[in-house]
Amino acid sequence: MTTANILLVEDEPAIQELLAFNVAQCGFRAIQAYDVPSALAEINRALPDLILLDWMLPGASGIEMARRLRADQRTRDIPIIMLTARTDERDKILGLESGADDYITKPFSPRELMARIRAVLRRRAPQMSDETVRVEGLELSPTTHRVSAGGANIDLGPTEFRLLHFFMTHVERVYSRAQLLDQVWGDHVFVEERTVDVHIRRLRQALEPSGKDALVQTVRGSGYRFSRE
Ligand code: CA
Repeated sequence: MTTANILLVEDEPAIQELLAFNVAQCGFRAIQAYDVPSALAEINRALPDLILLDWMLPGASGIEMARRLRADQRTRDIPIIMLTARTDERDKILGLESGADDYITKPFSPRELMARIRAVLRRRAPQMSDETVRVEGLELSPTTHRVSAGGANIDLGPTEFRLLHFFMTHVERVYSRAQLLDQVWGDHVFVEERTVDVHIRRLRQALEPSGKDALVQTVRGSGYRFSRE
């Protein structure tokens, strides 16, 4: 299964460590940031799959950061869970209006927090879920890391596997090379765009014997699409 990268934005060291410990226990990768500028630097380097964002941070607040992420095309789809000590209903509404997907109040139970993380990932980033995906006779299992068509196994490298998983959970949508780098590699800055073409070619070659390679379509001038048509 693809390991989800969870960005933890929390200034209190004890809570930051508690979060990092629990996130790692669940098999996710924790990226730690203690303030908004360092969180934004991490996001600029590579898009995380989910952000746990504290409301009260030194300098800029979590709310401001959530609004900023939602206003930017590159970051607007990153799932956000707000963390806060506030229990006021108005604050909760403000948090959700700023673009958070969910909201959890401190002190929180680690089990509940992890359940919320899983639920948000399932909803917002289906390629991070470990559920088996089936599209057009192709079957992909994130837990066993196997892909098959008509019962026959298809051997894929790790990048082609992630690429196919992303495509199969985002059927019929066109993605530019930069978007695919962000979504599949997690990095749009340090990886060249033609890297995408190389892996698309390998993916098509691997799918060719099953006749499923035609599902991976080039959209001239735009990028790629996984389509039934
Ligand atoms: Ca805080």
